[in-house]
Amino acid sequence: MKFIAKIAVAAAALAMLASPAMAEKVVKWKLAETWPSTLTPLASPPANLAKMVKEMSGGTFIIKVEGKEKHKAPLGILDMVKGGQYQMGHSGSYYWKGKDISTIFFTTIPFGMTTAEQYAWFYYDDGMKYMQQVYDKFKVLNFPGGNTGVQMGGWFKKEINSLDDLKGLKMRIPGLAGEVFAKLGVNVTNIPAGELYTSLDRGTIDALEWVGPGMDIKMGFHKIAPYYYTGWHEPASEMQFLINKRAFEKLSAEHKAILLTAMKAAAADMYYENFAASANAWEKMKTDFPNIKVKTFPLPVLKAMKKATDELLDSYAAKDPQFKEILESERRFMKKARQWTIISDYKYIQTSMEVE
Ligand code: CA
Repeated sequence: MKFIAKIAVAAAALAMLASPAMAEKVVKWKLAETWPSTLTPLASPPANLAKMVKEMSGGTFIIKVEGKEKHKAPLGILDMVKGGQYQMGHSGSYYWKGKDISTIFFTTIPFGMTTAEQYAWFYYDDGMKYMQQVYDKFKVLNFPGGNTGVQMGGWFKKEINSLDDLKGLKMRIPGLAGEVFAKLGVNVTNIPAGELYTSLDRGTIDALEWVGPGMDIKMGFHKIAPYYYTGWHEPASEMQFLINKRAFEKLSAEHKAILLTAMKAAAADMYYENFAASANAWEKMKTDFPNIKVKTFPLPVLKAMKKATDELLDSYAAKDPQFKEILESERRFMKKARQWTIISDYKYIQTSMEVE
């Protein structure tokens, strides 16, 4: 007994000695996200990442997530991670197209790859290689941070029957798709998220795009615009995790492995979460507002959109060799991947619908 008691005392003393030493080893990081911290599913990957990293590291690696409501710089994430005010960020790569046009490839491009095709390009082809190359100039590492899947083409108050119906149409549609629509005569505007509903309701704008049913339902657009167009412009919008390169290099091998694994898991989970949210929201929208009509843009309109997209992409490629190289890689991989998608998912869905 005496011997055991002695061991217990020794162990307790050791634990007391060990705990301050352990405490010094706790790594504390901060992550700034573009979204309000309550805006799921976009805000889910950072929250899940922080939880996983803490649990997997036994509390030796803590990531504090700060939403837009705290740092007030939703479009300053890349600069803040680059400058080291935050070790990590969560945002969308295409927000940085003004800094480098090649950043758009790591979110989505109009008529581009689906989620499965794009993840295959990221992880098992050249996607990740190019992603790190583009972000290297900012001394930042970039990783996939969650996908929305196909985004809807948006809510329209009037039906689009021809290219003429696009002329003078006032629409909120950002990014490269906005440039495409501008080429087709649309009066493209950018309006803060909080003012979108009122702008559409009052006729300040005639149409807008947001995400898909899961996120759109919270905005209420389905109550005031009856035409819901199918997607073309954001077939697989990927969010991004940004990491300050110097901060990452200082991590232990264990913490690096934990962080990389948790980012991949948190990113994948956002896709599942958003898929479920959209399926549930669409069921509710259809029931509560049976007047909603799902439409696909007429073929001549889609062909004009595709032509304008290719012209824009080729014009950027002519000015920027890196953009050209990545565009060629995307086009090469997509051509191959699409053949497989057609004889697998596409044909399966077609066949199962025929026997309904
Ligand atoms: Ca969108």
